[in-house]
Amino acid sequence: MNNLSTINLAKGCLIGAAVGDALGMPTEYISKHQLQSFYKGRIESYQKANNNHPCAHLKPGQYTDDTQQLILLAESLVANNGFNLLDFSQRIGQWAYECQTIPGYDRFSGGTSISAGLAIYNGSNPLKTGINRATCGSAMRVAPLGIFYYDKPQKLDTVAADSSLITHNHPAAIDSAVFISKTIASLINGAGSKESIQEAKSTLTSNLVKILDYVFENKEKEPALIAKEVGASESTYETVPMALHCFLHSPLDFEQTVVNAANLVPGDTDSIACIAGALSGAYNGLSSIPTRFITALEDYLYLSELGEKLLHLGGTSKK
Ligand SMILES: [Mg+2]
Repeated sequence: MNNLSTINLAKGCLIGAAVGDALGMPTEYISKHQLQSFYKGRIESYQKANNNHPCAHLKPGQYTDDTQQLILLAESLVANNGFNLLDFSQRIGQWAYECQTIPGYDRFSGGTSISAGLAIYNGSNPLKTGINRATCGSAMRVAPLGIFYYDKPQKLDTVAADSSLITHNHPAAIDSAVFISKTIASLINGAGSKESIQEAKSTLTSNLVKILDYVFENKEKEPALIAKEVGASESTYETVPMALHCFLHSPLDFEQTVVNAANLVPGDTDSIACIAGALSGAYNGLSSIPTRFITALEDYLYLSELGEKLLHLGGTSKK
């Protein structure tokens, strides 16, 4: 149990997610050799992606598709005073269309979210657009649900699952969205990390649980060593356990958590660092995030405002 205010934790969660995403942006799927030659072997501050990278058009401190989708979910929750599947799916559809048609708008988007989003944009029923692929796209954007429903965590079994299935309907992808959102809800409620994780795992049904247990039992080991066993790709069996591991390995140190995650090359570093940053921010609060990471982050004031709105609307909502 910590003594930080829920508003500090809610803002820390959203800004923490975007900080991790922006830090891991230039390292997403680069090789160890490239990490060495472009960044002297380790990235510890916002950097520009190399000229051949899909995020080469972004500046240091800009976030990627993870935070784009996270903001869409937050805006949908605020506009509807709760989760509305139709509204959120329309926003994902519009986002996917704009990624395909507006030059520079796409930020290395995941193929599953884009394919499903385009199907929604083109008029398909969002209950049928989900793809049976165990990737992490629905887990990386789910933090706003954990904030909005922080005092109604039982709701997350359904709303987090619904937020996933419009794009990702594989059982492990759905479990990932439920697990991350429920862990965040418990942390914002002031519960300890172990207690939050146990509670969030309790309703999961897929074999993701075994890997979550493995990283929990091995939290003392270095993240880079665990990544050699678990993997660090966009598979939700790898991204979500590695994000959890980075958080648990340095539970009181936001900076170490996101820096460790951003250096797990070759891998889906932005998504791992985004999820790890959301968890660490929800546990340690906005006050634990170094100022240099906050002031140079794209849209940090807007993210802070969204965190506050989600918390206040969610706290008073009957939904
Ligand atoms: Mg991304």
